Amino acid sequence: MTELHTTTAYQSFADSLQRALDGAPPALEWLTPLLTCSDEDAATLYRTADAVRDAHMGTDVHLRALIEFSNYCRKDCAYCGVRKHNAGIDRYRLTPEQIVEFAQAAAKLGYRSTVLQSGEDMWYTAERMAEVVRGIKATTDLAITLSAGERDTETYRLWREAGADRYLLRIETTDPDLFAAMHPDDDLEQRKACLYTLRDLGYQLGTGVMVGLPGQTPEILARDVIWMHELGAEMIGVGPFIPHPATPLKDATGGTVEQTLRLVAVLRLVFPTAHLPATTAMGSLHPTGRERALQAGANVVMPNVTPTDFKPKYELYPNKICLGDDAEHCRGCITGRIMGIGRTVATDHGHVARVQEQSENAR
Ligand code: SAH
Ligand code: SF4
Repeated sequence: MTELHTTTAYQSFADSLQRALDGAPPALEWLTPLLTCSDEDAATLYRTADAVRDAHMGTDVHLRALIEFSNYCRKDCAYCGVRKHNAGIDRYRLTPEQIVEFAQAAAKLGYRSTVLQSGEDMWYTAERMAEVVRGIKATTDLAITLSAGERDTETYRLWREAGADRYLLRIETTDPDLFAAMHPDDDLEQRKACLYTLRDLGYQLGTGVMVGLPGQTPEILARDVIWMHELGAEMIGVGPFIPHPATPLKDATGGTVEQTLRLVAVLRLVFPTAHLPATTAMGSLHPTGRERALQAGANVVMPNVTPTDFKPKYELYPNKICLGDDAEHCRGCITGRIMGIGRTVATDHGHVARVQEQSENAR
């Protein structure tokens, strides 16, 4: 990221941290100093975010079983390894029956929620995907998160009515120029509109950004945080951008664990009760990247339960971890890592605070 070049009156690190702890509305003048703080101050930032996580969310880490059900995509995002114009990958698509079966297997392993993710693959029509959601809901007690990109309002509505609880759609960046540079066939306003629709339909709302995109500045990240706050994001996934060799950004530098940790910590301060995953991209850049995120504000991990015949083909970025490990192995491994840092594995569905309160009031 580049130096700060604006006329904003930035506050000191200590004052910025105090503003965050006072619950001040997120603003550039204190978000940016936190995002660019020294390594020494970062240790304080992480410790503080960890304490806020402990106070609001406790020691529990929520596990979401990730099923990557198709790597077909109609889009050409400049950073992504499964973009339409990458002819070098072996495309696959799970059948609806396989998706339901893998979700059932995840439930048997003790998961309480699953995330179904894919490229923007229109083979999964609104009705086909709704059938998958109904199939999982009818045979398991899993909470279901969908992450299948941009669709029209009627499709999102059908999936919600079929039983989908949550939706993940990262905004990626809110900077109009950076968004346009990264997305030759996408429109920032349209992506925002999808998120507003998902929110209005009552989905538990997940979004997020990548850290270290070429041309991204700390102010841009700070503005992303402000926008996600206005949106009312309830789950926020952030991970380092990792350049993929078969994309236009193959020679880019990419994001770092340290930059991403600062953002995770800032998010915990601004969103004390949000669900923040320690993302796989963090674990892929550093062997203990996810644990470090869990100790800097994160409280969710998304172990991959996609069978190993398909896992390596869902290559959004290179060097993804755990590609040869089966779902049972991953479950044990992640539990060990969570307990190894003195945390506990949650046994409930891990709904967002709003939904949790609704169900408690209904009792
Ligand atoms: N197609 C859907 C969901 C799959 S992509 C969508 O785009 O919303 C899931 C996420 O992977 C994206 O939101 C993006 O933030 C991330 N991603 C893609 N390429 C990446 C890369 N090279 N490095 C790090 N994260 C990447
Ligand atoms: Fe497709 Fe999502 Fe990758 Fe973009 S980020 S190319 S929409 S899978």
